[in-house]
Amino acid sequence: MPDRVLRAMSRPTIDHRGPEFQAMTHRLLGEMKLVFRTEHPVLIYPSSATGAWEAAITNVLSPGDGVLAFNQGFFAEKWAEVAGRFGLNVQFKPWDSRRGLTADAVMEALHSERARNVKAILVVHNETSTGVTSDVAAIGNALRESSCPALLMVDTVSSLGATDFRHDEWEVDVTVTGSQKGLMLPPGLSFVALSPRALAASESSGLPNSYWSWRDHLEFNKNGFFPYTPATNLFFGLDEALSMLREEGLPDVLQRHTRLAGAARAAVSAWGLEGYPLEPAESSNALTAVMMPDGVDADEVRRIVLEQFDMSLGTGLGKLQGRIFRVGHLGHFNALSLMGTLAGVEMGLVSAGVPVNREGVSAAMEFLLNKSKAE
Ligand code: PLP
Repeated sequence: MPDRVLRAMSRPTIDHRGPEFQAMTHRLLGEMKLVFRTEHPVLIYPSSATGAWEAAITNVLSPGDGVLAFNQGFFAEKWAEVAGRFGLNVQFKPWDSRRGLTADAVMEALHSERARNVKAILVVHNETSTGVTSDVAAIGNALRESSCPALLMVDTVSSLGATDFRHDEWEVDVTVTGSQKGLMLPPGLSFVALSPRALAASESSGLPNSYWSWRDHLEFNKNGFFPYTPATNLFFGLDEALSMLREEGLPDVLQRHTRLAGAARAAVSAWGLEGYPLEPAESSNALTAVMMPDGVDADEVRRIVLEQFDMSLGTGLGKLQGRIFRVGHLGHFNALSLMGTLAGVEMGLVSAGVPVNREGVSAAMEFLLNKSKAE
């Protein structure tokens, strides 16, 4: 998290019904549209991203509606579970979580008999539990070409601000994200971007909601306010983070993430280890998930790295616990922060007695040097 963002948040809280706040709301909502690449409304909630999942579901769907989701990983499963808790008819399809979800798989599932009543398709753009990114553009195009009326809902919690994402162009209906990843903020804000189709569907939704109501938010946001006390100091941080993204330029931000992810993958293969994603082209810009050889507990490597170098690696979630660790490289992160990170991982692997070639850090340096020459 950038110091600039932390400092911005340390200001005294202002009146959330006053003119300074009002101007900030208009600015933030306008700028978030640029990040989501949309001309349609964006809403901000004082919640973690799980709240925005619930908002997406309860604003457009009705009890008994069909929802299609795929086992992309831990977060895809959790989102489908939220839909199930609201009495929706969730079809949770098996999927090889080492591969990005394909448009063909989505279309095939939609053509099956049971899929007749599917009103929404839930897709996780970057599955943070696996480090696999899916081609949302292809899924969006396939859906619209087939004139499928189901709404496309996409989780961009760990892709927005790290990976190319285009809400309007890719015909996404509801995009969900959180503050704590590419937006470089602490946890505590979530966001939804809406399409005109999603707004129209919200007029006839049969699921009750109150805190998450889009109608209330849109009504208040028009005038620069919120239907309840907003997380004002996180807004100060968001204002600063958006300035930083604007200063660097979104395309350059995304390119920086792509470059760092490539270097991290170069380190993994030089260590002689395997990344969890099967296809480099589907590997995340935001994190690298590293598989441990049989008999090695990934959490033991994590424990050693934390203890010796005060660095937290991500744990394997769900069925991947103990099998993988995850190296985050998103947000306020540069080549030198990556090199420090990879040095910590390499030393941790060696300390843990994992059989690796001690060449990952130099492979990553080589990758970065070649990239900067090429640019
Ligand atoms: N979706 C994805 C892809 C995530 O990575 C996360 C959290 O890491 C979530 C949803 C849930 O977000 P939160 O923990 O902010 O509720």
